[in-house]
Amino acid sequence: DEILETLRKEHELSDVSFKTWLQPLKVHAVQNDTVTVLVPTEQMGLNYISKKYMLPLKVAISEVTGQDYEIELILPEQTKTKEVKSLKPQINENIEKANLNPKYTFETFVVGSNNSFANAASLAVAESPGEVYNPLFLYGGVGLGKTHLMHSIAHFILEKNPQTKVLYVTSEYFTNELIEAIRNGNNTAMAKFREKYRNIDVLLIDDVQFIIGKESTQEEFFHTFNDLHGAKKQIILSSDKPPKDMETLEARLRSRFEWGLIADIQSPDYETRMAILRKKEELDGYNIDDEVIKYIATNIKSNIRELEGALNKLIAYANLEKREINVELAEKALQDIISPDAPKEITAELIIQTVADHFNISTTDISSQKRNQEIVYPRQIAMYLCRKMTDTPLKSIGNLLGKRDHTTIIHGADKIASDILTNESTKNVIEIIKKKISPN
Ligand code: ADP
Ligand code: MG
Repeated sequence: DEILETLRKEHELSDVSFKTWLQPLKVHAVQNDTVTVLVPTEQMGLNYISKKYMLPLKVAISEVTGQDYEIELILPEQTKTKEVKSLKPQINENIEKANLNPKYTFETFVVGSNNSFANAASLAVAESPGEVYNPLFLYGGVGLGKTHLMHSIAHFILEKNPQTKVLYVTSEYFTNELIEAIRNGNNTAMAKFREKYRNIDVLLIDDVQFIIGKESTQEEFFHTFNDLHGAKKQIILSSDKPPKDMETLEARLRSRFEWGLIADIQSPDYETRMAILRKKEELDGYNIDDEVIKYIATNIKSNIRELEGALNKLIAYANLEKREINVELAEKALQDIISPDAPKEITAELIIQTVADHFNISTTDISSQKRNQEIVYPRQIAMYLCRKMTDTPLKSIGNLLGKRDHTTIIHGADKIASDILTNESTKNVIEIIKKKISPN
């Protein structure tokens, strides 16, 4: 329903078009990277939908789920032959258990002068976990490939040896699980937590900068670290800075982080940016003019996530406008992304986008009228942060968040303000999102 709603809103479809083509569509199966959509009309309908709505559908699905899927349209009579045999082969089950993104592998990682050391270190660790560099500590700025490399290591290990117990978690997840175990206040909750984290062959913790500054987490993390390290289990950590620059990190943890190998990832140079764009183009099956690739690589320098985002946006734009991709179109489509190195101003829009990303929901959702807790909570957090971090008038915040009036905004913000005092997880979440909005 949400996907359909997104489609309808974003393409301003007339009622009749919407009802005829889109509303009858049903998700038949989701398997690996593919969503199979059932089209309950005849062949002609299928062809037309495929021509006209395939890309919007893909974009809407990606917006709602936060993941890119291939789409396959099928007719009712095909559902039998298409009967999904086994939904989850063993290998995928392992990947899922380990919390991995199937797209982040060494094969899809482009090596350039900015990351060749980190890439080599990661591959060495993947080939001999627990034997060469322990821990491996990867650091670098936002969107430069730390998470991608960590997942690559995990995939590599699982592929070679599917029985290995691999676990990837964000440090936020680790912290919140710990907080939860402590809050439960009984020994079994804590014992379970310990068992989970100490009964692992390869532990990957992403963005450890978010753990620091919290004594209880550092303490538990210290013990987890020692146990795993002592048992020669591989630990892989990432952070936005090297251990020596992590100010509130306890000395004993700092020294442990420095035991193994520290590898940094720098911003990609022009050649690497070109190579990354070409790789992405190839993986997604597009053939884009070199001038256009050059234009993007020249203008987007800071971070690879933005580089990819620009290419996606351009492709979606060209498809919706039914125009050929060329430099002129790129200039138009990307005008709001390509602003010459201006530091990001903290705006209500930026806050809402960051909060939505953090919770893996779309901004459409956050400003919708939905009232389920998964949406209400992030929405209230956005209200709180907009009030705390900007001077945006209540009325404008209200407008951005689905035309809500000022009392709703005040109420939502107050709710979070008092929650922070009593609820450790909310406090943690707020701290992390604040750092994401303004890293310094
Ligand atoms: P970080 O964890 O450092 O913030 P990510 O690993 O999430 O960054 O990378 C951001 C995006 O850029 C991801 O989609 C990732 O696949 C892509 N990316 C980063 N580095 C590379 C690379 N060297 N080759 C291909 N894709 C990359
Ligand atoms: Mg990351």
